[in-house]
Amino acid sequence: MSNNLNVDPQEIAKFEALASRWWDRSSEFKPLHDINPLRANYIDEHSPVAGKRLVDVGCGGGILAESMAQRGARVTGIDMGEAPLSVARLHQRESGVEVDYHHCTAEQLAEGEAESFDVVCCLEMLEHVPDPAAVISACAELAKPGASLYFSTINRNPKAFAFAIVGAEHILQLLPAGTHEYAKFIKPSELGSWARNAGLVLEGMVGLTYNPLTRNYKLHPRDVSVNYMVRAVKPA
Ligand code: SAH
Repeated sequence: MSNNLNVDPQEIAKFEALASRWWDRSSEFKPLHDINPLRANYIDEHSPVAGKRLVDVGCGGGILAESMAQRGARVTGIDMGEAPLSVARLHQRESGVEVDYHHCTAEQLAEGEAESFDVVCCLEMLEHVPDPAAVISACAELAKPGASLYFSTINRNPKAFAFAIVGAEHILQLLPAGTHEYAKFIKPSELGSWARNAGLVLEGMVGLTYNPLTRNYKLHPRDVSVNYMVRAVKPA
């Protein structure tokens, strides 16, 4: 893998190793399955996706990509992991849901498909790349003027460390140890300024909270202390 790509090969390797279990709801990917309806509804509510072109950057095995295609979006899914993409392609043959998958970075896709998408999603991916600001710029390039963009990641503060690393990886073992690196977590203020620097306008933010007792995830209008999602638009 070329070094000048905005890709961390060690991060890709983590997802390659787990990829065969991507659609197993009781696996390491359970959290993504559990949060998927929440985020899919949020996106579809704010930017009705039926008939729209949507790109899912860092789509992995295609959990969000398929659910957006099921709602009528014309979906392109991109990822730098070979194994997650193979799983995504196999799964779509089973489910019959059509998604166009490509092995490339957002920056590479933007070279040929600038201003092509009505909705751009980049979920749970920015905290795995060397230069997240560059991914956000590439997402802004992919967006048509007037398009909506959705970014989700993990906040960086002591509570996020306690929940996302100690809690999720070590105590509850929802995720393998080492899935997330604290230093790569992103504060909403950082994500916001990268988005503004990319010419985007921030429209809203929502938290995604986990209650370890009920094992329920919820969208929260204010609590962005651990997981959160930002909604932005590219001015028309
Ligand atoms: N967005 C999906 C998967 C999140 S897991 C979801 O939320 O359901 C993170 C994914 O990002 C992995 O599949 C990993 O291979 C991918 N990834 C990491 N760095 C990447 C990069 N630079 N370009 C594209 N995909 C990347």
